[in-house]
Amino acid sequence: MPKVEVVERILSANDQIAAQNRARLDAAGVVAINIMASPGAGKTSLILQTIAALRDRLRLGVIEGDVASRTDADRVAATGVPVVQINTGGQCHLDAPMVSRALDTLPLADLDVLLIENVGNLICPSGFQLGQRWDVVVSSVPEGHDKPLKYPGIFTEADVVVINKVDLQPYLDYDEAVFRQAVRALNAAAPILALSCKTGAGVAAWADWVVAAVEKGRGV
Ligand code: MG
Ligand code: ZN
Repeated sequence: MPKVEVVERILSANDQIAAQNRARLDAAGVVAINIMASPGAGKTSLILQTIAALRDRLRLGVIEGDVASRTDADRVAATGVPVVQINTGGQCHLDAPMVSRALDTLPLADLDVLLIENVGNLICPSGFQLGQRWDVVVSSVPEGHDKPLKYPGIFTEADVVVINKVDLQPYLDYDEAVFRQAVRALNAAAPILALSCKTGAGVAAWADWVVAAVEKGRGV
């Protein structure tokens, strides 16, 4: 008898809860976007720009993930958009149970899109499903153009890559073509959008991506 190996995919406990989160979001018609980046890349700034660009077209909600503090959530709350702060208490990534508890406190029936700011870290956030439909990686010019080479996993998983702080390019030895090439070697499909949350340059193209992602996420 030939030996037959049966390989069964067993969902981790985290992935099971992530699937429940996703079902809950789908049922409410909410498309969740997981925003990952290193600390200081501009995740919160991108969320604030997204709110400013789209608040008349989409009903937005936000989950702010941080190891500690609520400063980012306070900045988002000032816009009037529903926001929940998750403090991970030291954990360097969000996980599905944390997001599940945050969903309990958000008005899901009144939202079209949920922006989830993950903890600032380019390594493990991509290893924990949350219930999101889309994954965004933000990489900023001051971090250097070599980040996709150093952290290939997260760039491989990305549905879209945002280059932030392009206004600083004249002052730094940052080669955008090298960055783009490195992303493309890992990820054939993800659009690469260069922008500045400071000046607003390029934000319109990002907003267009979000609108399309919400429509596609709902199967419209
Ligand atoms: Mg932040
Ligand atoms: Zn972690």
